[in-house]
Amino acid sequence: MTDFILQDVQVFTGETSVPVGYVAVRDGLIYAVGPGAPPSNLAHIPRYSFPNYTVLPGMIDCHVHAFLGDDGCMSTSLQFGITTVLDMHNEPEFVKRLKALAADPAHYSTHADFKTSGLAASIENGYPYKLITDFVKDPEAIAASKTWTKLKAPEEADQYVQDRIQQGSDYIKLFHESGKTWGWDLTLPTQALQEAIIQAAHRRNLKTVAHAMAIDDTLSVLRAGVDGMAHTFCDEPITDEIVAAYKRNNAWVCPTLAATGSMTSEGLGSQTEIARDSRVAAIIGEEESERLCSCMGTCHGRGKLEYAIDSVKVLRAEGIEVVCGSDSVGPGKPGVGWGASYIHELNMFVEDVGMTSEEALRTATSVPARRFGFKDRGLLEPGRLADLVLVKGNPVQDIGDLMNIEGIWRKGVVCERHKDVLRSKEA
Ligand SMILES: [Zn+2]
Repeated sequence: MTDFILQDVQVFTGETSVPVGYVAVRDGLIYAVGPGAPPSNLAHIPRYSFPNYTVLPGMIDCHVHAFLGDDGCMSTSLQFGITTVLDMHNEPEFVKRLKALAADPAHYSTHADFKTSGLAASIENGYPYKLITDFVKDPEAIAASKTWTKLKAPEEADQYVQDRIQQGSDYIKLFHESGKTWGWDLTLPTQALQEAIIQAAHRRNLKTVAHAMAIDDTLSVLRAGVDGMAHTFCDEPITDEIVAAYKRNNAWVCPTLAATGSMTSEGLGSQTEIARDSRVAAIIGEEESERLCSCMGTCHGRGKLEYAIDSVKVLRAEGIEVVCGSDSVGPGKPGVGWGASYIHELNMFVEDVGMTSEEALRTATSVPARRFGFKDRGLLEPGRLADLVLVKGNPVQDIGDLMNIEGIWRKGVVCERHKDVLRSKEA
């Protein structure tokens, strides 16, 4: 691990920014950060000068799927400046493998850190079994789905949560999906079961996140006490009841608007724009770019992107916190891509929801770290992990600059792709 100081650089801490400052890194951690020039007690650490650049915390994608244990979700995401991915449903064998990969220092330069819910709470004839059998139709995925939970009664909730902890889960994920936006009639978990799972998680200090795509499902799982939503809904306009339910739990929302656009097919234009961005295409390659220019199109008029966007506008105005997540899945799912859809989502927060660029950057850094309880990342402050992104320009003013990535560090280790970033930049 190399110790270094980035100086003469704009610093976005995850919360606020200073136009000219420095970040000092020692032993994989942030050692010091501040405005102006680095103090003289840091004179022994090599310094590198980056005027007209911005350094910010490594970003957190709050909704990914390492489908069938595909570590592309970690390697591709890292190249977009995402140093932590939060996987939202996975089998124990893959959890074990991907966690080991993330923990191995040999992979700091190539892979983002991996956090996961492990197996989300599912029930017989509930979501997402039909998604796998009728939509994905992958034999390996169908085989894997046979190992998922089929919770029956609230009495099983405690054991379910215990098993997740034992298998390395970082938080608990619930499915609460009637299938309305898919045109499916799925069995919805009972309110009593969802409450029992959430309470069992809370007794062990674990956060809970729920999947729901329809407004009624969102309302009932919020009423069960969930801490955060993994999507916003798109089937109907937001109501006061929803706002009140969010407020009662002080819940956060991870909107996944880019993925919703792919589901309703309304996102094609902006997906294509992202896919054709040469900086994005240089990372994901031609095949993946092409895939980003198509839509899942699963809604068939049962949902509107406008409802989803408006819900975020209203929730934000009411003080509900937003975290950024892509809901991206590996090869085979059209319209979303690891990293690329995350950048797309941040763009939508600014262009469609009306956030400032700085506020959008908070949804990618300090807010998710605080909401999920990750006290070791998401902010540039002494003692936190030296997960850093260095970009040319000023993404605090213009989110479009976020893709001008020149350097990424995970735990102070420079990303393979940018290993020469410090060369000839000595101060
Ligand atoms: Zn998802």
